[in-house]
Amino acid sequence: THFGFETVAEAEKEARVAGVFSNVAQSYDTMNDFMSLGIHRLWKDHFVRSINPGTTTPSTTTTPSPGWKMLDIAGGTGDIAFRLLDHATNINNSPSSTITISDINPEMLEEGRKRSLKTSYANSPRLSFLLANAEILHTVPSNSVDLYTVAFGIRNFTDKPKALREAYRVLKPGGVFACLEFSGVTNPLFDAIYKRWSFGAIPLIGQLVAGDRASYQYLVESIEQFPKQEEFRDMIQEAGFVVPGKGWEDLTGGIAAIHKGVKP
Ligand code: SAM
Repeated sequence: THFGFETVAEAEKEARVAGVFSNVAQSYDTMNDFMSLGIHRLWKDHFVRSINPGTTTPSTTTTPSPGWKMLDIAGGTGDIAFRLLDHATNINNSPSSTITISDINPEMLEEGRKRSLKTSYANSPRLSFLLANAEILHTVPSNSVDLYTVAFGIRNFTDKPKALREAYRVLKPGGVFACLEFSGVTNPLFDAIYKRWSFGAIPLIGQLVAGDRASYQYLVESIEQFPKQEEFRDMIQEAGFVVPGKGWEDLTGGIAAIHKGVKP
């Protein structure tokens, strides 16, 4: 797919990730609730509040106008996108803010489209969909986006630095990169309990609820392999972003973390 430059390992990883998300697309939201005991909803709410989309006086940048142009990458079923639009509309009175939900997987995007029909954004010009690999956002112009979000997506990308450079390219100067992703549990005792839960229970729940143990085994392993807080912060900086403060916020003891960067 990528002009023959891909290695076999990269192509295999992409195919595997595609298979995982095609398999889980329909059970995705139910499974998230089971696996995280519903906590992912609180993380997502907090993520969106911390970004405060649509505000005229953003805390981290002065660029975005009342109508933010937002891009939710690996947006899947739209969980983040609908929250961002709701916040911009209801909290910041910014009905001109728009969002594009982008995902590499057509089935996940289709779930997002179906879900959008049940929201007030059904067929709204404020909402659009883009089938794309986060590493190559050809159709998104440079310096065109106020906010780039990626939630529980980037750990699946084959070439993460490349995706971060694409994020940098499409953002306007002053635009914000915001990522919600699994990270490293900081307390050793809590980490031991958490590992037992994730490696033991999650593949089992996957088997029982979604009839698919292998996909959920992959998800647990991808969490384990993803760079921890400091390393990921450094990767964001290497792509050219300025990171506010220490660069991240831990959620639930570091099970997840929010990383942010601003394009100077
Ligand atoms: N953001 C949503 C959420 O928080 O509920 C969905 C997250 S889901 C765990 C991960 C998504 O990443 C899947 O929809 C998958 O198709 C997508 N994905 C994986 N690799 C990708 C890539 N290279 N480019 C874009 N999306 C990708």
